[in-house]
Amino acid sequence: MGPASMSGEPPRASGPGDGRDPAGREGGDAFAVARRRMVEEQLVAKGIRSPRVLEAMGSVPRHRFVDPGFLGRAYGDHALPTAEGQTISQPWIVARMLELLAAEPTDRVLEVGTGSGYQTALLSRLAERVFSVERVASLLRGAQARLDQLGVRNVALRHGDGSLGWQEFAPYARVLVSAAAPRVPDALRAQLGEGGVLVIPVGGPQLQHLEVWHRMPGDRWRHQRHGECRFVPLLGRDAWRERQETEQ
Ligand code: SAH
Repeated sequence: MGPASMSGEPPRASGPGDGRDPAGREGGDAFAVARRRMVEEQLVAKGIRSPRVLEAMGSVPRHRFVDPGFLGRAYGDHALPTAEGQTISQPWIVARMLELLAAEPTDRVLEVGTGSGYQTALLSRLAERVFSVERVASLLRGAQARLDQLGVRNVALRHGDGSLGWQEFAPYARVLVSAAAPRVPDALRAQLGEGGVLVIPVGGPQLQHLEVWHRMPGDRWRHQRHGECRFVPLLGRDAWRERQETEQ
């Protein structure tokens, strides 16, 4: 069922004011009902508990981050294709990663793999500042435009190889990687502050496990392995090597 039939209002594909109601309240857009259902049926019903994560997922207009051709499926229980052969992850896995990350309102967060900017927008509500690195320049430009349109101000984006982190603003309280890595890149460990948490899908190109790494005092580490997931590969110097240059 598409959002139009859920909300009783026709979803607007684009144009000024799309996604914002006249009073400027959050969630007053044509997709608000679809978004609430997503939160209840895909997240709460499947074990997401963090009130802050649920609030963010209920507020950020996911439909603004998907390809216009997939608007009607923006709040469905699945990943969706975005530009450049990349994907915007399924809502549940996005929420799960954010719950495991457990960012605090005063945290500085590093994100690797900006993609559409959807998760970046969620992080912007959960943390104080977000630094996000994306290797594909055209994706970064798209993400920047969407975040600007939504009035998100506490996010800085950078074009580059996120397997090397973003040294300039380290240490980070939290690091979130949303592409599949063969192992935890050294630079990301080094740039995580003491007491920090790193969430990353680790495994082969086809299948990974979500891993959570805690940096304890004295450079001791504790990590947990969570469920299976499927992400596009993290391509870079300390990740999967690129077969060909796809950046522009
Ligand atoms: N979280 C995103 C989805 C990320 S998909 C969203 O909400 O839309 C994974 C992204 O990681 C892709 O955009 C891909 O281009 C990017 N990526 C892959 N390797 C990277 C690297 N080494 N550094 C930065 N970004 C990388």
